[in-house]
Amino acid sequence: MTATIIDGAAYAAGLRARIRDSALTFKAQTGRAPGLTVVLVGEDPASQVYVRNKGIAAKEAGFTGEELRLPATTPQADLIALLQRLNTDSSVDGILVQFPLPSHIAQEAVLDTIDPRKDVDGLTPTNAGLLASGREGLVSCTPQGALLLLLDQKVPLAGLDALVIGRSILVGKPMAQLLLAQSCTVTIAHSKTQQLPSLCRRADIVVAAIGKPHFVGGDWIKPGALVIDVGINRIECPDGKPKLTGDVDFEAARAHARAITPVPKGVGPMTIACLLRNTMIAACRNAGLPPPQGL
Ligand code: NAP
Repeated sequence: MTATIIDGAAYAAGLRARIRDSALTFKAQTGRAPGLTVVLVGEDPASQVYVRNKGIAAKEAGFTGEELRLPATTPQADLIALLQRLNTDSSVDGILVQFPLPSHIAQEAVLDTIDPRKDVDGLTPTNAGLLASGREGLVSCTPQGALLLLLDQKVPLAGLDALVIGRSILVGKPMAQLLLAQSCTVTIAHSKTQQLPSLCRRADIVVAAIGKPHFVGGDWIKPGALVIDVGINRIECPDGKPKLTGDVDFEAARAHARAITPVPKGVGPMTIACLLRNTMIAACRNAGLPPPQGL
């Protein structure tokens, strides 16, 4: 079997076009565009790129908003005060604080401050709890994007055995909750899991969110499985050039899988698209409008 390559970049482009249309409708109904504010503390180079890309994507979607860049020395109390101000600003529908934060700022304190209705990263305890309770909230962007790609394969997910490798609050845990909500039988693996290859060989769906290049071998993949590779790892090619690669040995796995996401252009582009999607959903809820259709 040679797997279908799941084109996350194409799916994300289509989703972003639909979000742009929704934003136009929203503006016609409310007289304002959806608003997204992204906050960066410090000068971490990777975070600067992510924040810039999120700002560009928001503008392309027709949103308003700002990128607020604060010095690495910003006291925690000042960041909390800024978030409290954004919570009460009616032009702001979504607030995203770029992680990681400088070590003197507690991530928990930040997440406890963001209004869950504006938590477009889906990371506050309230939104994590709503997801776990099967209730409507805002879902973490990367697992939401991975689920949309899985649903797009038009394979009934109910009853399938799903293995999620990784248990972070950003990816692994919400991914497992989303698959459970699709009536999959879900196993969550982590660094202490025993017999991971044999667990993997039983799985109809494998989601790898580990952060280790080519960790999941091709012979771990059950014939016909759906494989979602969330990992983004920077490795050096034999010619010395850097290259991005996933957590799955893509070339080996594609010989067994039914469908597989590549890295790059798999799950990666879905993360920003789902950030825009969450902002659109939050804007509609905050304005008392029905949820946007077709997203
Ligand atoms: P993380 O917080 O570091 O979590 C990694 C998880 O992998 C942990 O739960 C860890 O287990 C588990 N793990 C580590 N070694 C393992 C092993 N030998 N066997 C089984 N499990 C193992 O990372 P993350 O934030 O979830 O991200 C995971 C990957 O996804 C990274 O490559 C990241 O760059 C990528 N990512 C991509 C996107 C995107 O847009 N595509 C977004 C977010 C993240 P323990 O809990 O036991 O330590």
